[in-house]
Amino acid sequence: LFAGQTEFLKGVVAMSGLPDPDRPEVCFAGRSNVGKSSLINALTGRKGLARASNTPGRTQEINYFELGQSHYLVDLPGYGFANAPVAVVEKWQRLLKQYLSGRQTLRRAFVLVDSRHGIKAVDEEIMTLLDKSAVTFQCVMTKTDKVKEKDRTKVLDQVRAKLSKHPAAYPELVLTSSEKGQGIDVLRSIIAAID
Ligand code: GDP
Repeated sequence: LFAGQTEFLKGVVAMSGLPDPDRPEVCFAGRSNVGKSSLINALTGRKGLARASNTPGRTQEINYFELGQSHYLVDLPGYGFANAPVAVVEKWQRLLKQYLSGRQTLRRAFVLVDSRHGIKAVDEEIMTLLDKSAVTFQCVMTKTDKVKEKDRTKVLDQVRAKLSKHPAAYPELVLTSSEKGQGIDVLRSIIAAID
């Protein structure tokens, strides 16, 4: 499904720019710096593929990648920027709401959460939006290599407790490290099984 077959398709700034809904898609969301680009690169085995979405001007676009012919992988802009202009944030939130509630082929959202920090207020906001949009979502813990076992357990308990309050959340977490390769195969299999 993945190796060598992932191509950047396009950046989208309005609903009218979305590709035809002709295949299932999954989206990735997370606070900026959570490790989203690293994870997408690890998943697709293509170093630098997701970097385009981090360059200035690209940050407010919904970036589409083709996984072979079978799925779209959708990279949503990182949220939680400290000093983004209000108008930019509002425009983006409008598009995000339209996308999440209106995209019929969106099968699942992966919400990335830093293994050191757990779920923050901005993550709760997007999770609530996903609940309202009836988009099932699954948490992917990033940077697991950065935390010790006992600290990790504490964070995971917090994450599970918070997820239990979200009707659209899958209870199972995916533990990943893009650095060490942990959980990447698991996540690939999960996406491949979605249709
Ligand atoms: P994004 O803003 O969410 O796209 O985050 P990036 O993928 O750019 O990662 C942010 C920072 O975290 C970078 O310095 C990465 O090298 C680092 N990082 C990302 N994933 C991992 C990981 O699994 N382990 C470690 N140790 N660092 C990571």
